[in-house]
Amino acid sequence: MKPLSAQTRIQSEGICAVMDRLCAEHSDYEIDTGVVGQWELRTHYGSLNASFEDGGVLIRVAAEDETCLSYMKMIFAGHIAAHLRTTEGLRWHGDGADAGTPVFFREISVLSSTRLSPHMQRLRFSGRDLDRFSHGGFHVRLLLPPTGRQAVWPTMGADGLIVWPSGEDALTVRVYTIRALDVAEGWLDIDFVLHPGAETPAAAFALDARSGDVIGMIGPGGGGLPEASNLLLLGDDTALPAIGRMLEELAPSARAEAIIEVDGPRDRMALAAGNNIAVRWLYRHGREAGGAGLLPAALRERGPAADDLYVWAGCEFADFREIRSIVRKGWGLPRDRHLVTAYWRRDAQGEDGAGEE
Ligand SMILES: Cc1cc2nc3c(=O)[nH]c(=O)nc-3n(C[C@H](O)[C@H](O)[C@H](O)COP(=O)(O)OP(=O)(O)OC[C@H]3O[C@@H](n4cnc5c(N)ncnc54)[C@H](O)[C@@H]3O)c2cc1C
Repeated sequence: MKPLSAQTRIQSEGICAVMDRLCAEHSDYEIDTGVVGQWELRTHYGSLNASFEDGGVLIRVAAEDETCLSYMKMIFAGHIAAHLRTTEGLRWHGDGADAGTPVFFREISVLSSTRLSPHMQRLRFSGRDLDRFSHGGFHVRLLLPPTGRQAVWPTMGADGLIVWPSGEDALTVRVYTIRALDVAEGWLDIDFVLHPGAETPAAAFALDARSGDVIGMIGPGGGGLPEASNLLLLGDDTALPAIGRMLEELAPSARAEAIIEVDGPRDRMALAAGNNIAVRWLYRHGREAGGAGLLPAALRERGPAADDLYVWAGCEFADFREIRSIVRKGWGLPRDRHLVTAYWRRDAQGEDGAGEE
């Protein structure tokens, strides 16, 4: 299938420095175009080509589908907004819509709510047109409307950025993992950790959700099952849904070892099993989540062992930092053999606490 593409031209003082910065920030994705005055980034979602001419720059983005094309426009427009402090005059020509409902947005409504364990609530949502959420990343952003108000959903701006409702209509945004999905039947499952905290919008929503409650969802994004034949997966309760999916999608020829931290034995979940899968549970036994340090300790004790090992981890920020330091500095694993992500951070809300390496 022919990729979709769109272009925009920016004529602005300082644009060259801003473009250099974009290229430097994504240097891992730069490819050699062989053309003077032109560079190109090839990311997970698509490509971005910059041609410099007469004090300005012509940007071309290309991707396999509309969702990824929107993401590429957003990467560029977000960078311009952050560094030029305005996107005035930025207009896209070519494929993809430039207004209205984002192509990657769905309204979903609660079908059922099930307590899976003392600290995990599964919500099954119904939604239309879910096919695009079955590939291209496990993760979504859930958009929770203000309690008691009719939801106002985001729209797309002509500059390629999301226009978010504000003031009394402002949405709460939280990142979650699609645990299971049935495109034909039109449902998806999300498992929510019921964690402590004075104000916990997503966990509280999961606890109180009733059939028919409506929220928004944008995505998908992030990674899926890493392309590796020997996987070491580490995670706390919040990464259990991602680890569960990875084990289910594991090729019979690949091996996986999962080390999972939860509060106690009653928090264990049924996971895919087989000769090529080993699962080890670690228990906090009432100690605060993110404070027990069980995952880094287990990783240290285990050691790197095999040359072809790929390490994947999702957990609280302090554990994330320690795990990243063990695999990078301690074991010297190259970047293409590990992905360590902070899924949340103690005393921080939502994405203020999350982040990849
Ligand atoms: C890629 C990705 C995928 C994720 N997938 C899932 C998933 O499938 N299921 C899931 O439950 N979570 C998942 N998370 C984590 C989830 O986004 C956070 O836990 C989120 O902060 C919860 O939002 P909240 O509104 O309940 O609490 P917030 O308003 O964000 O935080 C309120 C308080 O609770 C604390 N807190 C947040 N999470 C926890 C926790 N797990 N344990 C103890 N204290 C906590 C915060 O430090 C803060 O003090 C994922 C995160 C990422 C980045």
